[in-house]
Amino acid sequence: MVVSMQGKRGLIMGVANNHSIAWGISKALAGAGAELAFTYQGEALGKRVKPLAAELGSDFILPCDVEDLSSVDQTIAALKERWGKLDFLVHAIGFSDKNELKGLYADTTRDNFTRTMVISCFSFTEITKRAADLMSDGGSVLTLTYGGSTRVIPNYNVMGVAKAALEASTRYLAADYGPRGIRVNAISAGPVRTLAGAGISDARAILSWNQKNAPLRRTPTIDDIGGSALYLLSDLSAGVTGEVHYVDGGYNITSLPTLEVLRN
Ligand code: NAD
Repeated sequence: MVVSMQGKRGLIMGVANNHSIAWGISKALAGAGAELAFTYQGEALGKRVKPLAAELGSDFILPCDVEDLSSVDQTIAALKERWGKLDFLVHAIGFSDKNELKGLYADTTRDNFTRTMVISCFSFTEITKRAADLMSDGGSVLTLTYGGSTRVIPNYNVMGVAKAALEASTRYLAADYGPRGIRVNAISAGPVRTLAGAGISDARAILSWNQKNAPLRRTPTIDDIGGSALYLLSDLSAGVTGEVHYVDGGYNITSLPTLEVLRN
């Protein structure tokens, strides 16, 4: 089967710049012929997203801050008006106060816990519910998670808890929408240097540890993640839903560091 997204239309949420994971995904989708709409958070990011969207032949860009439910509703209304229906959705959104992405998880505040959960986890459910109403011929939905959901990664703290809930949401949404032919999956990416990634204390050291210890001896590029996303968003993965698919150079299968690292 040839991978083609010709005739498919989808919404990409989470491009901040050309280092964003969502940008790697967008390039792969556009390369396969998909038509894309983009959201951006705030005018400053909008200035960056507009030329990027244009590079992929899209002039369909919409402001959306997921903390404000009315802006989510406006995004869905705009999609409905211009396209009528939707084939896929990419949710690549995460946020937590960087002052709490260091030190002890136990010191997480109630306010930041709630905000992190709403932006990084619950927004996925709110948007999927609304987007599903536009997926009249079935569809595919994708979110982005990280291995700090199941194993303790220093400084990832409350984001790890939010990602665990996001992965559980992926499974529950897959069960809710499977009967309507809508698939819901997550990619668990290894560390990538992005704006969001830089908010985590010691991000460079963690990235370098992954490069030394992953079976492939490298971390994924945004193009690696784009390729896997294309699979999950296209008919190539027609029988797959509720999965958390690792794109991390195999790091998640390891328990000890490599022998080279252990012996030094
Ligand atoms: P990024 O900074 O490029 O993207 C994060 C996006 O989230 C930005 O576009 C930002 O505008 C958006 N966002 C944050 N708060 C928002 C809000 N209130 N409303 C709307 N949008 C909001 O960083 P990225 O690393 O590409 O992050 C994309 C996703 O990938 C996130 O869910 C992140 O947790 C996940 N992820 C990242 C890594 C990594 O190492 N960078 C690894 C695994 C998973």
